Amino acid sequence: SFRSSIGLMDIKPVGWEQIGGLEDVKLKLKQCVEWPLKFPHDFARMGLKQPKGLLLYGPPGCAKTTLVRALATSCHCSFVSVSGADLFSPYVGDSEKVLSQVFRQARANTPALVFLDEIDSVLGSRSVGTLGCDAQERVLSVLLNELDGVGVRTVERRGTKSDHQEYQEILNQNVMIVVATNRPDVLDDALLRPGRLDKMIYVPPPDQEGRLSILKLCTNNMPIGPDVSLEKLAAETCFFSGADLKNLCKEAALAALQENGLEATTVKEGHFAESLRTMKPSLNLEFYT
Ligand code: ATP
Repeated sequence: SFRSSIGLMDIKPVGWEQIGGLEDVKLKLKQCVEWPLKFPHDFARMGLKQPKGLLLYGPPGCAKTTLVRALATSCHCSFVSVSGADLFSPYVGDSEKVLSQVFRQARANTPALVFLDEIDSVLGSRSVGTLGCDAQERVLSVLLNELDGVGVRTVERRGTKSDHQEYQEILNQNVMIVVATNRPDVLDDALLRPGRLDKMIYVPPPDQEGRLSILKLCTNNMPIGPDVSLEKLAAETCFFSGADLKNLCKEAALAALQENGLEATTVKEGHFAESLRTMKPSLNLEFYT
């Protein structure tokens, strides 16, 4: 699956519009990754640089991974990904070698976006980590080296080349790192020093309006009956993550199939209600404070 594969990936393009709500977050991502790539001179003139590393944090199932895929799509970057679980899997070998390999692949396929998902399990402060202390130390040191070494070239105006050529050159040297975590509090401080993961973006759980957008997206290709009010559902799904909402819609469609067999043509109010009764939201008040 997408999540458990390591390394260079041929991602299915994801458009920003496939992500419900989170308009502020989308804008921030565009501002700090897409714009500097597209308008390097304007950024340089304003004394701005592209961050080398980004940290996305927030509750599980609320679109962090999907946002990074949309970012890679809109920047036309290759997407190289590894998760904490991959890194400490007994099947993949030495964690730090795997991580180095990921960065080698990124450098061979620039412009590239390296995505390190659920990384707190590996890079959490010593007590929280799941790897042995030594292995964790070695993984952290690979990552810090890469953060210090990977180039986002500073842009200088050179008159001889077309903007397009220069844009291509900048792209070709670019490796950008995005780290996602549910637990920013446990990350090693060294990662958060200036010049490393120097931009932190909070990806919040969806509010009612966000839930409505997500529900609309999830039922886009679903024959929902006229009795279904997505507005009402959005109001009733406090503490549901985006992933939960997606599941809710899927379960409702399955309930319709179960009730009417393969003749089923509509997903009705009752199916959503049934699905809602059986589902527990994965978030709680903690994630909203
Ligand atoms: P985790 O922390 O568990 O890795 P995540 O924050 O990376 O989760 P995703 O993997 O991006 O979350 O999302 C999980 C699923 O929920 C995806 O299938 C995604 O399509 C859906 N989803 C979550 N939030 C949204 C949203 N705002 N709009 C559309 N789909 C969403």
